[in-house]
Amino acid sequence: MRLAARANSVTGSKTSGTRNKAEALRAQGVEIVNFAAGELDLAPPAEVLRALHAAADSDTHRYTDTAGLPALREALAERISRLSGVSYGPAEVIVTTGAKHGLHLAALALLDPGDEALVPNPGWGTFAAQIRIAGGEPVAVETSDTGFVPDVDRLEALRTDRTRMLVLNTPNNPTGTVCPPEQLARIAAWAVAHRVWIVFDECYGELVLPGVTHAHPAALVPEARQLTVGIGSFSKSFAVTGWRAGHVHGPRALIDVLKNLQSHTASHATSVVQHALLPAARGELDGFTAQARDILAHRHARVAEALATVDHIRPAATPEGAFYYFLDVREVLGRKVGGVPVPDTDTLTGVLMEQAHIAVTPGTAFGAEGFVRLSYAIAEDRIAAGLRSLREVMSGVE
Ligand code: PLP
Repeated sequence: MRLAARANSVTGSKTSGTRNKAEALRAQGVEIVNFAAGELDLAPPAEVLRALHAAADSDTHRYTDTAGLPALREALAERISRLSGVSYGPAEVIVTTGAKHGLHLAALALLDPGDEALVPNPGWGTFAAQIRIAGGEPVAVETSDTGFVPDVDRLEALRTDRTRMLVLNTPNNPTGTVCPPEQLARIAAWAVAHRVWIVFDECYGELVLPGVTHAHPAALVPEARQLTVGIGSFSKSFAVTGWRAGHVHGPRALIDVLKNLQSHTASHATSVVQHALLPAARGELDGFTAQARDILAHRHARVAEALATVDHIRPAATPEGAFYYFLDVREVLGRKVGGVPVPDTDTLTGVLMEQAHIAVTPGTAFGAEGFVRLSYAIAEDRIAAGLRSLREVMSGVE
């Protein structure tokens, strides 16, 4: 079978291996605590569900404008302007079928074959995959020794005349860290000086701990506005991951290109979903995200307390946003857990599933051997039970 080179340039998501193993154990009656989820366990806001039903009952089943419903773009423009402190108009916003598709369109619009894109490592694997699909070359920027935030000297050392874009994801998946505004300003100034696009993934931007500031590059360095592609999502803030609804903001000329690309690929986000998300975009459901932040802050504290009692494993950083803890497990590697040799992180996650009955995501899914990602987007009693069994299993490390 002859396929395009592109077909072999990416592999499927690594997280599905964890999911399959958990399913197999569940089928045997084993209860697994799922610390691998990339989504909130909360039900979507009732108003969103009501709006979905109302949309389904009205005449909203036809194609929409490829950039999204005008009312939704308008509401999003206002919302993005309010949250970022940078003014965006409706023509500078496009609704996409999830942030993921928005990122894909951005990579297609920005990269020519052979162009380089700087991608912080560890990082969400989809960034590098999409850059490859677009014909570009992802260039890893190691951040594990710089607080999981790119260092400007390092960016400069990796910059070539083919560097077109830098991915910045804050709050970060998988580390939960938030880029401090001073550092974001330095990065934005560097990008402006060298005409490098900033693909700014702020899907978790509304999920930060109390007192933590999530800043926008263009709010700190106004000249960065012309080079910033902001990527947002309804998935995480409103617990509707399955609806596939995200958005992109940026300079109008770029948004027009994304609109053209979307018109030939997805066409547009699902019509009823767009209607249902109007109240969310208008800010009428900000109480829900405030409540989600509160719940996550409690869970974050529970995880911190419980982890402090676990041997051999420690947080690699203190997360300030999203719902992830990135754990340093290097001390366990090369040893035995419950009598089983654990040479690497992937083996460890398998052993934790079998012995502690918990699912965590190996850091290798994010380019980082020696770390695992623990999602606390699950109920507190599940968190407590899962971390109790982790402590027990870790006390048996030889
Ligand atoms: N960006 C990051 C950093 C993510 O972690 C995710 C989902 O896990 C996405 C984008 C995708 O969001 P969406 O569901 O809107 O496609």
